[in-house]
Amino acid sequence: MSRIAIIGAGASGLVCAIEASRKGHSVTLFEKNSKVGRKILATGNGKCNITNEKISLERYHGESPGFAKEALRRFDTFTCKAFFRSLGLEMREGEEGRLYPMSHQASSVVDMLLHEARALHVNILLESEVAKIEKKGTEFVLHVNEKAHVFDACVIATGSVAMPNLGSSGSGYGFAKTLGHSVIEPYPSLVQFVCDEPHLKEVSGVKMDANVELYIANQKAQSVQGDLLFTAYGLSGSAILDLSRKASHALVHGESVDVVLDLLPNFSREALSSLLQKRLSIAKDKSLSLWLEGMIPKKLAYFIIENTHLTPMKEASSLGAKEIKKMVFALKALRLHVNATKGFESAEVCAGGVDVRELESKNLMSQKIKNLYFCGEVLDIDGDCGGFNLHFAWASGYLVGQSL
Ligand SMILES: Cc1cc2nc3c(=O)[nH]c(=O)nc-3n(C[C@H](O)[C@H](O)[C@H](O)COP(=O)(O)OP(=O)(O)OC[C@H]3O[C@@H](n4cnc5c(N)ncnc54)[C@H](O)[C@@H]3O)c2cc1C
Repeated sequence: MSRIAIIGAGASGLVCAIEASRKGHSVTLFEKNSKVGRKILATGNGKCNITNEKISLERYHGESPGFAKEALRRFDTFTCKAFFRSLGLEMREGEEGRLYPMSHQASSVVDMLLHEARALHVNILLESEVAKIEKKGTEFVLHVNEKAHVFDACVIATGSVAMPNLGSSGSGYGFAKTLGHSVIEPYPSLVQFVCDEPHLKEVSGVKMDANVELYIANQKAQSVQGDLLFTAYGLSGSAILDLSRKASHALVHGESVDVVLDLLPNFSREALSSLLQKRLSIAKDKSLSLWLEGMIPKKLAYFIIENTHLTPMKEASSLGAKEIKKMVFALKALRLHVNATKGFESAEVCAGGVDVRELESKNLMSQKIKNLYFCGEVLDIDGDCGGFNLHFAWASGYLVGQSL
């Protein structure tokens, strides 16, 4: 039996603690917050998108995403379901292969993990922020609340710097650097866009299915169809989150970022143009805004009119071919400049992190320091929206726990 320290009682740390205890080790789990799994509680809008039926390597990113292969092989969706069922948690399937707890509550996931960890006698120390890790001979000395604790192995499961209000301080990057590891500079991912469009406040709250094209330095970089939400500061919704990794990377490197919105993706330009032409026959006595409201949300109608520089009270029947063309353009190819992302404060995950090329992929142990391990989002592996990030946290925690 070895003395194992795990720093961070989040998704990866909790699973690692359970697996290591199941193997008979003496496990101490340090958590700086007063509760375990605070970030898990915030996931999936409180419903926790635990994993996805379609876990595959292509959904993961980083300087060396192939590194995740072994963790994903050892802990695939089937193993993930079996693991949570062994804790007593049932799952249900949502849209696009996403899996959630059957209770619809993220708290069920945390409660089951915590119950199992306690039943296995994991020593859970809350309000215990690890300030420093020292390597003394074959042992690790952890400094916590001005006390020193000695262990045979140390697992860094401290997460990233995304949403620091949930406990993500980035301390793991500091530990890694002090212990001789390289860290790929983290940047926000799965994050909203800030745009400098003056009329956004008027359209704030409108949500629709749209096709969004991302342009980096005026070159088309990616295109996604999905939920688009207009907000007072810019754009949100799953389509934006899906584009945000590339956009955020470009912004960090000083490149210009724009999006082109197709707000009626089910219509071709020709079909939309002929629909508008046809609707001129019922335009009599109707203002332009009322006429458009027959097709799109009221707030969006005003926004489109502002963008075409027409007046909302203009009689729709007076529209000419040139104005119809302008309207088609505004609805099918509305270009907005992206000034920034909402940053780490609002990001669901971080891209970047501890360089995985300095770890063993078979067990996530450091190539530099024996018995030092890393798991979860602290690593330079990040996934798409849809349960892929939590899955990697569970999978990497499981792999380390089994390998200890
Ligand atoms: C709002 C939101 C929604 C999300 N929704 C989803 C979703 O539905 N599906 C999905 O797959 N992913 C989702 N994610 C991403 C997912 O939550 C993370 O990728 C995952 O939690 C990472 O797990 P982790 O164990 O690496 O880190 P964390 O869960 O962040 O855990 C790290 C823990 O370490 C503790 N800690 C840090 N430093 C120290 C220290 N020095 N000493 C002691 N303790 C320390 C922290 O307090 C924290 O509890 C979401 C993220 C956010 C922010």
